[in-house]
Amino acid sequence: MLQPALSDPGAVSKKKPWYIENPDSYNTLRREVENIFPELSFVERVGEVCIEGDLHILDNSGKVLYRFSIRVKLSEQSPRGLPTVWETGGRIPWERERHMNPHDGSACIYLPEEFWYENPNGISISEFIRGPLTGFLINQILIDKSENHKWLKGEWDHGENGIIEFYAEHLGTSEPNNILRCLTMLRKKDTKEIKGHWLCPCGSGHKLRDCHRLNINELHKRIPSEVTEASHTKLKRAVQELRNSH
Ligand SMILES: [Zn+2]
Ligand SMILES: [Zn+2]
Repeated sequence: MLQPALSDPGAVSKKKPWYIENPDSYNTLRREVENIFPELSFVERVGEVCIEGDLHILDNSGKVLYRFSIRVKLSEQSPRGLPTVWETGGRIPWERERHMNPHDGSACIYLPEEFWYENPNGISISEFIRGPLTGFLINQILIDKSENHKWLKGEWDHGENGIIEFYAEHLGTSEPNNILRCLTMLRKKDTKEIKGHWLCPCGSGHKLRDCHRLNINELHKRIPSEVTEASHTKLKRAVQELRNSH
């Protein structure tokens, strides 16, 4: 059952998290996760739900090879949204090269855009733990064992550079101001608000309707506006800081 503290979040104006709006699906999800991962348990605090405990990395015969202490904070937007993860055993250094955010120690398992583009319907929390999270931790073990300590899975960059890299792939431009214009379009709530006569954010000088309209529609359909809004804020700050430093 939900504890009273949890069902009384301080923020009034904010939309309530799905696990408060819908306690039945929360309880179903909780039972499912605790069933699959007996070493993990749910911890409910004011305004947040975390899954905490040990995650075992097994070999092919089911023997435990490694143990990681983790905390997985559920997405507030959706049971299939991108959770936030911390490794709480102090095994992974908080370094960008390790895809760990140095300011708070959270793991950078996915660029949010990448997550939603690959999984337009999100993924369940147990799929997330078994798939991307386990893969991330295995990568950390491999880095420790490798000679060059290089990240093995993919080559994506971190933070603002990761955002630029993602949109560059879809727009064919890595100019930050172009990507900012793209994000200004994508954060609109409704696709109809993105007008075909606008200049295409790829920098070609063509109208959107004659250029990257389909790409923009696809990105808009898959990536929630909270995500593009957050990236816009982050990238804008980075661009301003760069400008001020010159
Ligand atoms: Zn990263
Ligand atoms: Zn274009």
